[in-house]
Amino acid sequence: MANAPIMEELKDAACQVIASGRYLHGEQTALLEQEMAMLCQVKYCIAVSNGLDALRLVIRAYKEMGVLHEGDKVIVPGNTYVASLLAVSDNGLEPCPCDVREDTMNLDTCKIEPLLTPQVKAVMPVHLYGTPCWDEQLIDIAKRYNLKIIEDNAQAVAAQASVAGLNGTKVTGSLGHATGMSFYPTKNLGALGDTGCVLTSDEQLASTVRALANYGADRRYHNIYKGLNCRIDEIQAAMLRVKLKHLGQETQRRMMIARTYNEHITNPLVTRPAIFDDMQQVWHQYVVRVKERDRFMSYLKQNGVGTDIHYATPPHRQPCYSELASCKLPVTEMLAREVVSLPIAYPISQQDAIEISNIINDFKAK
Ligand SMILES: *Cc1c(COP(=O)(O)O)cnc(C)c1O
Repeated sequence: MANAPIMEELKDAACQVIASGRYLHGEQTALLEQEMAMLCQVKYCIAVSNGLDALRLVIRAYKEMGVLHEGDKVIVPGNTYVASLLAVSDNGLEPCPCDVREDTMNLDTCKIEPLLTPQVKAVMPVHLYGTPCWDEQLIDIAKRYNLKIIEDNAQAVAAQASVAGLNGTKVTGSLGHATGMSFYPTKNLGALGDTGCVLTSDEQLASTVRALANYGADRRYHNIYKGLNCRIDEIQAAMLRVKLKHLGQETQRRMMIARTYNEHITNPLVTRPAIFDDMQQVWHQYVVRVKERDRFMSYLKQNGVGTDIHYATPPHRQPCYSELASCKLPVTEMLAREVVSLPIAYPISQQDAIEISNIINDFKAK
């Protein structure tokens, strides 16, 4: 949901924070944490400065707890935003990219085992584009090799993964041992600036993250860690609490747009994303694949349709990760060449999606 339609609600909430005189560590933050923990079915939520910090704090906390150590490796998907890897390397651990599946565009859990060495201590499933990354294989590998599962749920707030055995679904962010989330303004649940949160049901991890995010203090002027300042502003917590009330509606709108595109796009030059009926995808992005991507994107631009690429350069191809340049990730690299994100953010309507689909269907081979 964009902010314009709920401007008055946002203004009221901001005014209340200004009037309260309490800008950090206040009621809004505490209530946001309760509401997020409830929504995501975890015991603890720690609201923090941004999504990258949320992931950094999880890994740093595991280091303080003696669970992870410098030099350990963390399996990450090849197809992700670079922040997933930055959180790992910032802590002196090594990201170990694993290829992704063509259908989910997420971590291919069948390809994890060949990458395992005694140094691998964790795996980071990323629910990219709003599609949950979760299966029996991942659970099984994590159990057998005693790996921590750290979810990057920056793009999939309130998505549902199917959980075998439980005969049902579980919300992303509650699946692994700990989760980092982002409330960057363009995410499905976006603040009016930078914020994020850590989710976990592990009490020790939660209290370690909370202390680390507040200079390493477990109580006032008592520093048990050489910590950081990763706090969230009360104003942002208040903005997010307003946005949370509209999240369900926003998710439904995104799902409706995705279904509309999937029904109406029939051009054989364009590969649609899979809609899986055993999970709930929340469609942070609606990503198609087109071999002639440049020509497709300029054709759409000429017809007034703006598109984007998530992501043209995978992290292991970024200059800062030259040590990973030799990774062989054929599906990730194919996606990097072919993916195009179609408009899905508010205020795109069903009618817009039908019109865009028609334009797409008129795109011809050269
Ligand atoms: C946005 C994002 C992040 C980082 O979140 P910030 O709040 O921008 O720091 C991490 N991982 C993924 C997959 C993201 O999309």
